[in-house]
Amino acid sequence: MSAEDELGTTETAPDLLTLHESIADLFATRGDWRRAYQHLRSALDIARAGSLRDPLTSSYNRRYLDQRLPGLPASRSVAVALVDLDRFKSVNDTYGHLLGDRVLCRVADLLQEGLPPDAFCARYGGEEFALVLPGVDHRRAVRIADAARLRVARHPWSELQPGLRVTISVGLAHGAGSGSRQLHHADNLLYAAKRAGRNKVAFHDRETARVITHSE
Ligand code: GH3
Ligand code: MG
Ligand code: MG
Repeated sequence: MSAEDELGTTETAPDLLTLHESIADLFATRGDWRRAYQHLRSALDIARAGSLRDPLTSSYNRRYLDQRLPGLPASRSVAVALVDLDRFKSVNDTYGHLLGDRVLCRVADLLQEGLPPDAFCARYGGEEFALVLPGVDHRRAVRIADAARLRVARHPWSELQPGLRVTISVGLAHGAGSGSRQLHHADNLLYAAKRAGRNKVAFHDRETARVITHSE
């Protein structure tokens, strides 16, 4: 799959590598040269696609997020949810880092479930993930974020490790303008969700702009 396919857009700026590829494509016209070129070309495509994925969870990574956010159409509203695992350090301290890694993988899968077709989940770093929901209205964004929170909280974690419980806190920003701006707002709201006691989704009320923290 080409990097353009992975990104769902062909609007990435041409770089030196792309220029070299086009020149090689023009000159490698015959026999062995053509085959060698095609071989290198597919190896490059695989490496490019891999560079956009997180090796632990296989979800998209921060590089993918940083490439996608500025390219989202400013004419459509976008929701960005920043997700952070609650008290995850104590999961590592109690059960070990290998179990912690398995928890991260499972949370990534649970976050991915139930996303609309043009939304995506990316590992932002450490135990944080970003959900990007283009063209989704405010109420639906709250529903999706809260459903993700509940999916994690209700997952049968004790099947992975007796006594294990895992929850997430979510800062959810929604509006027009750049996805990067929403990510920044989501980060602030995430702190509100943590301060409110964790296992919550924090977002701005549409009318009053008050911070609402939502849980069961
Ligand atoms: P809070 O509810 O405030 O977010 O508490 P927390 O313990 O989740 O937050 P803190 O920032 O203290 O700890 C985050 C932990 O996440 C510490 C770090 O070791 C762990 N972590 C980050 N990346 C990985 C990873 O790839 N694998 C594992 N196993 N742990 C990770
Ligand atoms: Mg964190
Ligand atoms: Mg945390």
